[in-house]
Order: sequence, then structure tokens, then C-alpha cells
Amino acid sequence: MHAEAGNLIIGGGAPVSVQTMFDSSLHGLDPASVVERISELHALGCDIIRFSFIDGEDARPFSYIAAHSVIPVVADIHFDYKMALLAIECGADKIRINPGNIGAKWKTEEVVRAAEANGCAIRIGLNSGSLPKGREGLSVPEIMKESALEYLDWFSSWGFDNVVVSLKSSDTAETIEAARRLRSVTDVPQHIGVTEAGSPVISAVRSTWALGTVLSEGIGETIRVSMTGDMEDEVIAGVEILRTLGLRKKGVRIVSCPRCGRHAFDTISFERRIRRRLLSLDKDITVAIMGCLVNGPGEAKGADFAVTGMKDRIYLYKKGVLLKEVSAEDAEEALFEAITNE
Ligand code: SF4
Repeated sequence: MHAEAGNLIIGGGAPVSVQTMFDSSLHGLDPASVVERISELHALGCDIIRFSFIDGEDARPFSYIAAHSVIPVVADIHFDYKMALLAIECGADKIRINPGNIGAKWKTEEVVRAAEANGCAIRIGLNSGSLPKGREGLSVPEIMKESALEYLDWFSSWGFDNVVVSLKSSDTAETIEAARRLRSVTDVPQHIGVTEAGSPVISAVRSTWALGTVLSEGIGETIRVSMTGDMEDEVIAGVEILRTLGLRKKGVRIVSCPRCGRHAFDTISFERRIRRRLLSLDKDITVAIMGCLVNGPGEAKGADFAVTGMKDRIYLYKKGVLLKEVSAEDAEEALFEAITNE
């Protein structure tokens, strides 16, 4: 099975996609600047982006964004099925709903029929924090799985199969178990994520464990690393999980040393400064950022490009061969120039 959100295929053997969620309301924002930000996120590896669609005021900016975004856009709906209908009318490529909080079944049916008529995908998104009533006594993963199956039955009785399911918990064990249970009974595409996963380092650890576990079992067709942090970092973390598992080959791989008492080059601030710019390049390369000449030249041999330092002199290597010696303040531009002229 697969779903289609705009031009993005989710499932059915398509590459696992990375998504994030826009971190503020669209009210009062310049939609053109949002579209620009989406392009930057896309350059980092983001494949699809979700927006909270709260009320009628979102319609105008959302329509603009849906029409101009380089990647498919998703509307996140809670409680009010009319907002789902409006988001579909505004050109959403996908909507995320929890049929359990939409209210009556007929309201969900109206949404599904409108999605079908407009080529819009639907994610059935269930969270452990808002479980439907009526299945008390079962474990949280079982309640989520059973509820999802019930909603999938509804959808299928209405002839709709452009669907993705997410069963999220802030508990990694529940997230893993729910994904496994659902996959044991259906190959509906799954959106995997640990919800409310915490600040960047904590979220990256939890998400790597949960997402890495299920992805390595072949479960998970699209992922989100949810973070109390920047969208850019969510995307970087998601892409890195896929790269580490060998599920995404393209892109820049950064190798950087942790720095120690021997360092003659401040790798921490250099890496922090250039990270997003580097990861936004459309190149398949490894770049090493090393703090001294102990491991620098050695690591440079295994990298396409490497920088290492000695006092205020920075050495730039290309495939292990010294290319240039520059001052610390010229190091960033020298590195990007060398990569661009590759
Ligand atoms: S490369 Fe040099 S500065 Fe970096 S951790 Fe190794 S010894 Fe320390």
C-alpha cells in the first residue's frame, strides 16, 4: 500500500520521507517568507511539512503556501471537521485528523469524501495522550492499533485508501510496540515519531532509538523527529537517522572531532557556524572538521574535504591532499569555494 501527498509517495517501497511541523501560527505571517523557509528546510532534506490549521484566518496564507511550496503541505486539524474541509479546499496535499476527536462519524465521512474528490491524502493520527474511549483495559499500543484499524475500516467502506497512520506516544517502548502491532496486521504506510520528545539532544536520543528500531525492521514510511527546538534541527536529525541506517544515501556527511585539550582549531564553533549551510548543499560528500594535526591529516584522507588547524593557520584538504593554508577567518569561505569548484 502507498499514499500520495502531492508528488510525494509514502510507502509502497518509496524512500522514507522526512517531515517537520511549522512552529508557529500562520496568523499575521508573510506567506512568501514561509515559502522561502520551506525551501531552506527542503535543502536540508525535508520532504513534507505540516501546519496547524486552526481557523478561517489560516485559509488565505495556507492557500498561498500550498500553491507555492516546493514540497507537499499538510494541514493539521483538531476537533472541527469544517476546518478539514476548508484546508482541502485551500489545496492541502494531505490532512492529519484524529477521527476520534472530529466528533460524529458522518463528519469524518464528509472529510474523507472531500479528500477523495480533491486528491488529498489523510493521516489518521492517534496519540497516547488522547486515546478514544471504549477500549479501557487494553494496553496503550493495543488501543491505538485497534482504534486505527476501526478508522481504516471506515475509510475503506467509503472507498478511500490514500491514507497514512501514526500511532505516537512520548514513551519510546509504546511507540515501537504500537508500530509493530499495526504492521503485523496491515501494511498501511506508517508515519513514525516519538511525540513530545523533548529538547534537541534528548529528542535525538529517544527518536533515534525508537525510529531506528522500527525502521531497521522495515516499519515506517515517513518520519518526524519532534523536538522542543528548531525545525531545521528536526530535519537534520531525521535525515541523519535515515543516513545512519543506510536508508538515505544522498547528502553531505559531516565528520567532526569533539575537541580536546590539544585542539588548535575551535571545531565546535566552526561546525556550529557552517552546519546548516553545509548540509544544505546538493552534494554527496564527506567533510571532516578536525581540531588539530594529531588526527586531522589522517581523517582528511578518508574525507572529500577536511579542515584542521594549527594556531591561527587552517589547513584545507581535498581527498587527503593539502589544498590550501588560510587564516581562521577565511576558513569558511575557502572550504565552500573548494566544495563549489569541485
Ligand atoms: S583531532 Fe585533535 S583536537 Fe580533536 S579530539 Fe582528536 S586530538 Fe583532540
